[in-house]
Amino acid sequence: MKLFNQHLEKKIGERTQELTDSHKDLEDAFKQIDYSARHDTFSRLPNRRYLEQTIEWKILDSSQSRTMVSLILIDVDRLKHVNDTLGHSVGDQLLLHIIKRIKSCLPEGSFMTRHGGDEFAILIDGIYYDDEIKELTAKIIHSLGPPFHINDKELSITLSIGVSIHPEHGDSVEELMKHVDLAMYKAKEDRKSKVVFYSTEMDEELVGRMELLADLHTAIKREEFLVHYQPQFDIHTGALSGVEALVRWVHPLHGLVSPGEFIPLAEEFDLIIPIDEIVMKTAIQQFNEWEKEGIAPPRLSVNLSPQQFTQGNLSSKISMIWMETRFPAERLVIEITESIAMNNEECLTAQLQEIAVMGIQIAIDDFGTGYSSLSYVKKYPLNQLKLARPFIMDVPANFNDTAMIKAIIDLSHHFNLSVVVKGVETIEQLKFLRTMNCEEVQGFYF
Ligand code: C2E
Ligand code: CA
Repeated sequence: MKLFNQHLEKKIGERTQELTDSHKDLEDAFKQIDYSARHDTFSRLPNRRYLEQTIEWKILDSSQSRTMVSLILIDVDRLKHVNDTLGHSVGDQLLLHIIKRIKSCLPEGSFMTRHGGDEFAILIDGIYYDDEIKELTAKIIHSLGPPFHINDKELSITLSIGVSIHPEHGDSVEELMKHVDLAMYKAKEDRKSKVVFYSTEMDEELVGRMELLADLHTAIKREEFLVHYQPQFDIHTGALSGVEALVRWVHPLHGLVSPGEFIPLAEEFDLIIPIDEIVMKTAIQQFNEWEKEGIAPPRLSVNLSPQQFTQGNLSSKISMIWMETRFPAERLVIEITESIAMNNEECLTAQLQEIAVMGIQIAIDDFGTGYSSLSYVKKYPLNQLKLARPFIMDVPANFNDTAMIKAIIDLSHHFNLSVVVKGVETIEQLKFLRTMNCEEVQGFYF
């Protein structure tokens, strides 16, 4: 009997252990499911769903402590282009580095989540002044300033940051989320890293932007664009040396819309490629007309968005236009600006070389505005360098600018590039530039 009881006790013990183990397995499985449902698998950061729940709790808590809850939305600009041009593995590595740097700026107890591809949110509670958030966002931008080094590539990024704060900007999760989105979009309109706090005027602006976007789709179908031509002059002889084609949108209700208003929108929503094609064709047709009349300028310059290069078939598009119009290739200049999208050096160099082989000239535009680097001058088959307006705004009074202009012009000549100075508005600037050995000038003065 004793033996029987001992056997029974052992069996019960084993069974209890089995039940405990399976209960634990079940609990682990539930925990795993719960974790996956609330986290992003790639970054292991909490996801949007988790964020929404957390905002709700924090709002409840804050009403007792009478503190504020701040939602910060960070979007990494142009990450899509890094993925498109350098591949997803580089994009992924870059994201992990970015997360690490952002995390290093956060105070203890803050909650960072990944919203989707290139969007992160940070929830900060228990704050008394919005200055604390201003300081934090400035710190984040500063920490992401130095370039990243991935697979021997140097990548620089910019951020667009939106902020909404409870109770000032909303009492519910929905309001805070909607308003932080709006603030972030507002920040995106600028090309540099920028922080924008939500304000009520943004609601109206958003409606306006969305309407403009819908109209832009129609404008492309109906080709509602007009091209203006700004002359460029030889600085020594004063002769016309070329014209730059600058697009305007002839909106059926608003009249002429400047490119500054619709190009960023077109770039953001992938509509810039058809617009650039329309402008290029129109300008070339106009140039051919002038040529027939014997009044064509020596050169025609057109602006191309960096996005043209990410598709990798720009040169074949240009050859198609050439087949249709037979324009004199050596009198066409394409103006490009540098951006992170151009970090795919092989792809960009190959495309630029194909364009150069056609005889077309290539200009680097807005040199010195923060996106350009001296190494591009050496690396790419360029013919012309266009110096940005900010450089000459304060000359001849500003000695630093004067020295900089001189250095850039000397360097350009060293690499056989001619220099066009943009934004000349006064006779003083022109007189100063005549002493500077640049080749051409362009601006409102003329
Ligand atoms: P950008 O290439 O730097 O063109 C020069 C801009 O500065 C033009 O503005 C021109 O009107 C303006 N400008 C010229 N001289 C002066 C001056 O002396 N002082 C001042 N303050 N401004 C001057 P716009 O026409 O509004 O074009 C703005 C930008 O839009 C262009 O800057 C270019 O980046 C872009 N853009 C224009 N047309 C096209 C296009 O067909 N395709 C693409 N992708 N971008 C274009
Ligand atoms: Ca230009």
